[in-house]
Amino acid sequence: MKDLRDVTGTIFDIDQTALHDGPGVRMTVFLKGCPLHCAWCHSPESQAFAPEIVWYETRCTHCGACVNACPQRIRRPGLIAPEDRARCTLCGACIEACPAGALEVKGREATAGEIADMAARLTPFFARTGGGVTITGGEPTAQADFAHAIASLCRDAGIHVALETCGLAPWETIERLAEALDLWLYDLKLADSAAHEAYTGAPNEQIIANLRALLASGADVLVRVPLIPGVNDTDEAVREIATLARSLGVERIELLPFNPATGGKYSWLGLPDPLPDAQRQSPERLAELQAICE
Ligand code: SF4
Ligand code: SF4
Repeated sequence: MKDLRDVTGTIFDIDQTALHDGPGVRMTVFLKGCPLHCAWCHSPESQAFAPEIVWYETRCTHCGACVNACPQRIRRPGLIAPEDRARCTLCGACIEACPAGALEVKGREATAGEIADMAARLTPFFARTGGGVTITGGEPTAQADFAHAIASLCRDAGIHVALETCGLAPWETIERLAEALDLWLYDLKLADSAAHEAYTGAPNEQIIANLRALLASGADVLVRVPLIPGVNDTDEAVREIATLARSLGVERIELLPFNPATGGKYSWLGLPDPLPDAQRQSPERLAELQAICE
């Protein structure tokens, strides 16, 4: 059997001082690729499973060096048209040619052993703050062997492990991962399945069935609701989610306010911000919605 340390996957970031991805100070590992395509996605660079090149518009001087360097002839100054992205071979010639540092690859292969070693070096911080490792994405259950290997190695080293999921995976995948996890951070976006499909690209029956089974198994689950202006931050939508959660036996719900700062990431991929006018919910509005949940 393959050594757990040698299991590989694709990551696009690691944050060693995360404060909002579970208890204490966390090392959050971002796995690339997601089966959903949420209209408001906070990390558009996480959606594709393969590494890809992003463009930082504010650094670009529009000199055109990347255009001339590209053997595929798919670069405009800085950008690749979305319909041409699949033709990029990741040869790196454009990155090398760019004098402004405006191009970067998002995504690289990593081993579970390398990530567990990084986490092991942070154990004094975890011990002091009650923190640990959080595996997120993208959607980490879509790289289940990799996520399982990271979680198993960290747990064996005495590190608390959480996993954030959209819940869209076969139950067998969730069940296997549950053996290696201390905490699930489980997204519930919309109670209505048709609306869920319209906004995320998939209905929610499997997500709800997995959550029900996970709770029945005794797993520690914190349900999180990302509040999206005009989509699910109305009284009615939150009441529906809370009612659904209660019917499933959920004990803890966290409402996550919208983060407008992430809209700028869409320009990295040459895409328009899908919610350019959306604002973070005020503390007063959050309190109203929290009261509905309670
Ligand atoms: S990585 Fe290579 S193929 Fe892709 S855009 Fe840059 S130069 Fe072109
Ligand atoms: S080489 Fe760099 S600075 Fe010049 S157009 Fe391309 S991305 Fe912009």
